[in-house]
Amino acid sequence: MSGMMKAIAVYPGKPGSAHLTTMPKPGVKDIEGGRGVLVRVLRVGVDGTDKEINAAEYGAAPPGDDFLVVGHESFGVVEEVGPNVRGLRPGDFVVALVRRPGSSLYDAIGEQDNTTDDTYFERGINLRHGYLAEYYADDARFIVKLPKVLEEVGVLLEPYTIFAKGIRQAFEAQRRLKVWKPQKAAVMGAGTVGLLATLALRLRGFEVTTFARNPKPNRNAALIESLGARYVITTETSIVDGAATYGPFDLVLEATGNSGVVFESMRAIAKNGVLVLASVTGGDKRIEIPADKINLEFVLGNKLMLGTVNASREDFEQGVRDMVQAEAAFPGFLKQFLTHPIDGLENYGQLFETLTTAKDAIKVYCMVAR
Ligand code: BGC
Ligand code: ZN
Repeated sequence: MSGMMKAIAVYPGKPGSAHLTTMPKPGVKDIEGGRGVLVRVLRVGVDGTDKEINAAEYGAAPPGDDFLVVGHESFGVVEEVGPNVRGLRPGDFVVALVRRPGSSLYDAIGEQDNTTDDTYFERGINLRHGYLAEYYADDARFIVKLPKVLEEVGVLLEPYTIFAKGIRQAFEAQRRLKVWKPQKAAVMGAGTVGLLATLALRLRGFEVTTFARNPKPNRNAALIESLGARYVITTETSIVDGAATYGPFDLVLEATGNSGVVFESMRAIAKNGVLVLASVTGGDKRIEIPADKINLEFVLGNKLMLGTVNASREDFEQGVRDMVQAEAAFPGFLKQFLTHPIDGLENYGQLFETLTTAKDAIKVYCMVAR
């Protein structure tokens, strides 16, 4: 039976409009070429982007609809596959990519995360419905399989992919140097993304220093240190001083959401080093910076700064391998991210409430089904 299903949606442009809706349940036949996969949603994480969408600062409904189903950090189980789907079967755990192809050359080769189009098609964010629903259907090429060991923490894959891509891009770009052998890395921020970035770098053998504002002791600092990384408090030690003591850093990952930190980070990278930027900053902050110094250090040090958004299928697949490795190398580490579960789609109010008020949350997520 096809029938109807529940979903959480907003009216883009209308602040605080999150609501429960019912809509037709999708099916594998909705997807062309026999490549449809129907997924029963189990867990969906929410983040700052969802907060902005519900505040009507971001997000757009799909053409023809006045509502947008939200949720882009998915985790589910395959219920049915079309006749031309290979490598996915009912019962498999899966996570779906967020961005869908537009019209640029990059989109044509499956690299829509690097699109040059002005319009993004992102499920749960822009022009495409998301995953905070009982089911979704999509083309198998946008769906990545996870092993059973990631059943509990698979909902963290999408946020993990942001720096899986960032790090991959950095290494690709650094081939310019022929013999780049990075050892020291820094992460700016110890929130969800900063924690995941620290993990990714530790899994790659870096000596990691993570800079954050919160004084110790605190839970996230303890998590950072449990990975064998260093936690530096920026209200006591500036990024520039920290870099002088513990750096300079061959690779720096920035995702604090504070563009001011970017310019301090530019002063923390080593000669031939690379700074990766991933903060989506919607405001119009202005600051004063030591422009001559920063420029001089960049020129004389052959330094590189690289922006990165979203992630490709390759990054999701790498993310799966990394998370499996993390479960072995740091057992129970990822599980500690699951701080704020909210039961059921009907508790959408509590989901968004928790997202805005629980300052100590690492991950707020909806337990859509068990
Ligand atoms: C999502 C990315 C997305 C970006 C910009 C982030 O919250 O995780 O997948 O590309 O927002 O819309
Ligand atoms: Zn996100």
